[in-house]
Amino acid sequence: PVVTRIAPSPTGSMHIGTARTALFNWLYAKHTGGKFLLRIEDTDRERSTEAAVQVIFDGLKWLGLEADEEPVFQFARAARHREVAEALLANGGAYRDYMTAEELEAERERARAEGRVVRSPWRDADPATYPDRPFAVRLKSPLQGETVIDDQVKGPVTFQNSQLDDLIILRSDGTPTYNLAVVVDDHDMGVTHVIRGDDHLANAARQTLIYQGMDWATPTWAHLPLIHGPDGAKLSKRHGAQAVSEFDDMGYLPEAMRNYLAKLGWGHGDDEIFSDEQAIAWFDIKDVVGAPARLDWAKLNHLNNHYIRQADSARLTGLVVQILKSRDVQVREADLAVIERAIPLVRDGAKTTLELADAVLFVLKRRPVELPEKARGMLTDETKARLSRLRDAVAEEAWEIPALEARIRDFAESEGVGIGKFGPALRAVLSGGAPAPDLASTFVALGRDESLGRMDDALS
Ligand code: GLU
Repeated sequence: PVVTRIAPSPTGSMHIGTARTALFNWLYAKHTGGKFLLRIEDTDRERSTEAAVQVIFDGLKWLGLEADEEPVFQFARAARHREVAEALLANGGAYRDYMTAEELEAERERARAEGRVVRSPWRDADPATYPDRPFAVRLKSPLQGETVIDDQVKGPVTFQNSQLDDLIILRSDGTPTYNLAVVVDDHDMGVTHVIRGDDHLANAARQTLIYQGMDWATPTWAHLPLIHGPDGAKLSKRHGAQAVSEFDDMGYLPEAMRNYLAKLGWGHGDDEIFSDEQAIAWFDIKDVVGAPARLDWAKLNHLNNHYIRQADSARLTGLVVQILKSRDVQVREADLAVIERAIPLVRDGAKTTLELADAVLFVLKRRPVELPEKARGMLTDETKARLSRLRDAVAEEAWEIPALEARIRDFAESEGVGIGKFGPALRAVLSGGAPAPDLASTFVALGRDESLGRMDDALS
């Protein structure tokens, strides 16, 4: 059975590229009926705080991409990594390198000058000559031939072994290096498919040599092109949000993010909008595109608007209330039902839940609603008189959109004016100048009592 994983290093934020990698691993595991695992690569002890680890858990949870098993923590497995390094020493796949820091530096200089990779003089040394001092452990890599990564995305990628130096797998202080830890962990976790960013493609060649040294089966590789900004340059700060939590803060829904990220480098024909079930059914790692994907905010906004229009109102109410509270807008218990009633009436234009929060602000105003100066200017005696006649006309009406629309139209006709003559003033009276939908929807969102009350306040 297929086992995929993501192996993020806790750095304090979760990059959108990591989110996409997680999604592709998750989709592939679900598609094949396999498992999706999580490994926290927390060997950098300074950065790997509990808070930084929590950011990853939170990001995956928010995205709805939770792992099928408890996470594996890499640092805790250092003894096992050392054990494998010992095994490689024992089977001749690795050797002790006694070069001092100064010797290594000098060899580096020489190698650079001669245009070759670093070579240790200890590679074939007689153990009888080993000095009594700390040593690093290096992989004894083949000097000739080639290592081919049969990548599912890139196709076969060939590395000349002569270009790969003997990788250090254990430092002289006994700590395992990154590539060793990754291979041992992936092997022990039973990972069958390594799907990750293509910045790790060269590591795949090095890691292959470790697998071979242990006589372990290599996983299937799939290296994903990076995500670029809309201008085609590598994604960076100046393109805007990069962290998963920022997309949350900007009011994107996780299902919109999943749909959008799935489209970043993969797709199913021309389908723009698809469900998780469809993505799972259709996803194949072989269909991932080799060229970098470009972030496209207009597409993301379009998808987010789609999912906002589909989402359950009670859920959106919860999200909107959280946003309003973070802005110090007072929300009372009784407002919840009002917000929930308003959401279906105002959400069509909302690209984010932040915009949705703006769109419901008008229902939260307290009577008497303060009118902006412009609105007060519109309330001439003539308009006031007209709006009071309208008030009496709608007061009798069923409080539903079609009925109210018809009533407003009939009223304008009976007055012999266009709706434009009183509409803007009425809207301002009802909303206090905040954004509001069309008149009938605004009436319905506010409810009969509140609507008539706001009119009475302004017209008295
Ligand atoms: N810790 C690595 C990273 O965050 C993961 C590499 C891998 O997936 O093997 O880039």
